[in-house]
Amino acid sequence: MLAATESVAVAPTAPAGARPAKPRARMMRQYDLVERVRSYNPNTDEDLLNRAYVYAMKAHGSQTRASGDPYFSHPLEVAAILTDLKLDDATIVAALLHDTIEDTEATRAEIDQLFGPEIGALVEGLTKLKRLELVSREAKQAENLRKLLLAIADDVRVLLVKLADRLHNMRTLEFVPPESRRRIAEETLDIYAPLAGRMGMQQMREELEDLSFRMLDPEAYSVVMQRLDALAERNRNLIGEIEAQLSNNLRHNGLGTRVYGRRKKPFSIWTKMERKSVGFEQLSDIFGFRIVVTDVAACYRALGIVHTTWPVVPGRFKDYISTPKQNDYRSIHTTVIGPGNQRVELQIRTEEMDQIAERGIAAHVFYKEGAGSPTEFLKRESNAFAWLRHTVGILSESANPEEFLEHTKLELFHDQVFCFTPKGKLIALPRHANVIDFAYAVHTDVGNSAVGCKINGKFAPLSSELQNGDEVEVLTSEAQSAPPSAWESLAITGKARAAIRRATRTAVRDQYAGLGRRIVERLFERAKIEYADDKLKGALPRLARASIDDVMAAVGRGEIKASDVARAMYPDYKEERVARYAGKKGLAAKLKEKVVPEAPRSPVAIPIRGINSDLPVKFAPNGGAVPGDRIVGIVTPGEGITIYPIQSPALKDFEEEPERWLDVRWDIEDSTPQRFPARIKVENVNEPGALAQIATVIAEHDGNIDNISMQRRSPDFTETTIDLEVYDLKHLSAIIAQLRAKAVVARVERVNG
Ligand code: MN
Repeated sequence: MLAATESVAVAPTAPAGARPAKPRARMMRQYDLVERVRSYNPNTDEDLLNRAYVYAMKAHGSQTRASGDPYFSHPLEVAAILTDLKLDDATIVAALLHDTIEDTEATRAEIDQLFGPEIGALVEGLTKLKRLELVSREAKQAENLRKLLLAIADDVRVLLVKLADRLHNMRTLEFVPPESRRRIAEETLDIYAPLAGRMGMQQMREELEDLSFRMLDPEAYSVVMQRLDALAERNRNLIGEIEAQLSNNLRHNGLGTRVYGRRKKPFSIWTKMERKSVGFEQLSDIFGFRIVVTDVAACYRALGIVHTTWPVVPGRFKDYISTPKQNDYRSIHTTVIGPGNQRVELQIRTEEMDQIAERGIAAHVFYKEGAGSPTEFLKRESNAFAWLRHTVGILSESANPEEFLEHTKLELFHDQVFCFTPKGKLIALPRHANVIDFAYAVHTDVGNSAVGCKINGKFAPLSSELQNGDEVEVLTSEAQSAPPSAWESLAITGKARAAIRRATRTAVRDQYAGLGRRIVERLFERAKIEYADDKLKGALPRLARASIDDVMAAVGRGEIKASDVARAMYPDYKEERVARYAGKKGLAAKLKEKVVPEAPRSPVAIPIRGINSDLPVKFAPNGGAVPGDRIVGIVTPGEGITIYPIQSPALKDFEEEPERWLDVRWDIEDSTPQRFPARIKVENVNEPGALAQIATVIAEHDGNIDNISMQRRSPDFTETTIDLEVYDLKHLSAIIAQLRAKAVVARVERVNG
């Protein structure tokens, strides 16, 4: 057993080879810690604190952190953070000991014996959480969060130490290997910061958010900081003046107050900018003022004075004193046009409310004398704690941890709005949710087929933000099988987003599969071979696809060619296309016959005059040529003649070789209708159905699609290259004109290779 002696002075000696670049802050001394606690808790058990300090320091011995600091500096800093939250002795001691069971030879039994079972239980809870973290990866995250919440529900002080632990780790994140930093910051932003907010611990939440934000998006962080600084600098005098005017005015009316301005935090500004796509230009965008008075009655008196002195900005008044937030937050909010004609945001509250607003549940934990255990006290006094227990209740029933995570990350940690279906069913949604979220919360099918809505009996757009108490009727249509993909960015709940993503992905895939099937069937028809699903099923391994639909979708997307499908099914299948346009052996001979007027026409011949050789003839590989185009032939010795429209940029390559140019022209006067290859490029809006519309236009106008390939150029537009078969230039132009008339089509161009 480790000896726990009375007092040991700790000299923070840096181990050899430690980072010299950043001078470390002096490690806190034993008596510093005791002093900090005594400053808010005169009844502190100094002996207990001293014994824990020495025990933890000895237990960690010569261990060091990634920064090179002695390991013990970490539990000590964690304890210090908790003294800022003014927590009780047991919590401070648990902080000092929080890593001992996991990382040193200390045991639960020993801690129980030395410090008592209350502290032993806290340390064990923290040990469990630490073990969770060690296996924490995305797949496990949901289950871990579940365990975390279960662990902290027994004693919320476990959460407080855990948050302080995470805060210190975030403050020293620069020493962690770069590959882990991101994961830690994301986890902090996803779970710990919202959890702190949920517990009403505003300062903790903000610092966790800003540290994560700076790690995850350093560029955005510095942009926000620069603008914040510039705006604060510009308004420097004004801030002091507003503070002075407010407090003079209130004092003049007999109210003793404390007034102070407070800068908003980078992350909260950033999320607001993102959510509302706005910048920040006004002082009120970055500064809020607090009026702290002695009691509740004084809050309302202060409000009266403020409202009769300066014009009120309508719609901004909120009374969280009469209706506290779920995280115990209480204040009156209002905005006035104050000194200097500036919008001034005000929060009016008592000293106690101010404490709870900053420290949240931590302000309750250091309970009043005779109130019983903190847990008992919290059960009675704290909404936040009630919420926690409620969530844990849901949790222990929840079957699917992933779903729970999605739900929890995005929803439970935000303030909620409560809405109703026409039948009176309650639907709880996060604040800022809209009707799309509502529809998906009712049922995925309702979301997928939603086309309109009524809010409180009035027609409204589906993007309307919902307010507490709204009754929402979602209007659906069977004609809509998949939601517009743009909804994904409109929805704010994880459930709706995931469902929209799933539905649009399926719809797009179905389209590609349909298109692919058409291409494949056409090829088989032309090649006069039989197509059968069963036969393709047998060829799936050769195509490395899992299902027939996968194959068809891949063809539709242009990832594999229809001829590859044919070859996989019939290994001796030969590419058909060459035979049609270039001919195999006999084609040149037939051509030769063809240009002799009396020769019989061949249905597969290329009707072109001016060719008088045995060479095979083909059309420009990238873009083809159609009757109506002015054309030239280019001879490639040993290969054949390629027909180009004269506008083809490819012809530039042959300018130096006039001997290769052949004058040719079409010979189609009385031929039976025959199709020719052409290529177009369509720029279309990314939405389900766009591709189907394009394919339909082409089919309805008797064009054949021979091949298709798509490139996404931006989140909103896709460029689709389509190889077509048409009768002639007029036919092609008609199809292009029809495509251009479609709303989903932004641009159509003919492509010449
Ligand atoms: Mn730790």
